[in-house]
Amino acid sequence: MSLWILDKGAVAPLVNALRADYRVIGPQAKGPKFVFDPIEDPAQLRLDYNTTILPPKKVLQPPEERLATFSMGSEPRVAPVVEAEPTVLLGVHTCDLHAIQLLDKVFSTDYPDAHYLERRQQTIIFSIECLEPCDEHSFCKSMGTLTAGEGYDVHLTDLGLAYAADVATEAGKALLTRYGTVREATDADVRRLNEVMGAKWPRFTYRLNFDAAELPALLSMAYDHPLWDELGERCYACGACTIVCPTCYCFNVFDETNMALTEGERWRRWDSCQLDEFARVAGGENFRAARAARQRHRFMRKGKYIYEKIGELGCVGCGRCIRACIPKINIVDGFNTIHGGG
Ligand code: SF4
Ligand code: SF4
Repeated sequence: MSLWILDKGAVAPLVNALRADYRVIGPQAKGPKFVFDPIEDPAQLRLDYNTTILPPKKVLQPPEERLATFSMGSEPRVAPVVEAEPTVLLGVHTCDLHAIQLLDKVFSTDYPDAHYLERRQQTIIFSIECLEPCDEHSFCKSMGTLTAGEGYDVHLTDLGLAYAADVATEAGKALLTRYGTVREATDADVRRLNEVMGAKWPRFTYRLNFDAAELPALLSMAYDHPLWDELGERCYACGACTIVCPTCYCFNVFDETNMALTEGERWRRWDSCQLDEFARVAGGENFRAARAARQRHRFMRKGKYIYEKIGELGCVGCGRCIRACIPKINIVDGFNTIHGGG
C-alpha cells in the first residue's frame, strides 16, 4: 500500500502514544528468554528478540478464557462472554504471522469462533522482518515462512538507524501516521531496503532435505513407519511441544459451578494431544493411548491433516517444539527420516 520510514528514536514516543488508546503487547526480556506481554514502558520493547517462549497466539487465543455464564433456576439462562479489547501487537516475526493467518482460517471455518474472531478483529499487527535465524532450530526457510506478503497491518524492516514500515491496511496507516512521527520513503530508502532484504537470504539455510510441499504425500505413506515407535519410547508425554506451538489450537472445555449446581461458568483451556488423557472418552476408553500413536498424530497434524483441512501446512518452522523438548525430539529430523524412508 505504501512505504514509510520510522526512525528508531521515534519508536518509544509511538508506543507511548498508542498506550493511551490501546493495549500494547510486544516482545520483552524475561530472564535470558523473551515473552509477549503488555508493554508498560517503551524501554521494555525488544524488537531485536530472537524467539519467544510462547507465540503471540496467546493474545488471540488465551491459555484460559471464560466462554459463558449460566444459571439453572426456573428460567435457565446462558449468556456468552466475549472478552476483547483494542490491541496493538508489536514485533510479530513472519513465522508467527503465517501461524496467525492459519488460525484465522481455522477459527473461521466450519464453526466460526466468536471469541477468537472478535479479538482478532480488534487487533492491529505490527510485524517485523527477521534478518537472521532465531537459532539453529529455526527452519522457516524450509517451510516458506521466512518472509510474509500479507497478514499484517504494518511490517517493519530494520534498516540500521530506522525501520522501513510497509503499510498494508488503512488501520495500520492510521495508527502509524496519527500516533507516530514518520516520513514517506525515498528512492534511497527503497534501495537500502532491497539491499537489506537481499543480504538476509544467504543467512538462512534449508533444513528439510526435500520440498515441504511433499509432506502431505510423504506422511500418507508413513502411517506404519517405525519412527513412531522410536519417538514414543523417548517421549515423556509432557505436552510442551504443543503448548509452545503457534499453530496448535486444541482446547478443553469445562464448567465451574456453585455448590448447589444452580449457577456456573463455562471455560476453555489449551489442551495437548500429547497428554495421556487427551483421547480418553466416556467409559474410560482411550483411542490414542500409546505415546507412539500420539507422536504420529502430532506429525500428521503438522504435515498432513491441517493441510487437508485448510490447504496450508500446520508447521511454520519456528523451532519452538524442538527447543522445548527435554528428550530432544526434533520435528525436522522426524520429517527428514520419513523422507529418507529409513
Ligand atoms: S515436548 Fe517432547 S517429551 Fe514433551 S510431549 Fe512433546 S515430544 Fe514428548
Ligand atoms: S510444529 Fe514445532 S516448528 Fe512447527 S510450528 Fe509448531 S512449534 Fe513451530
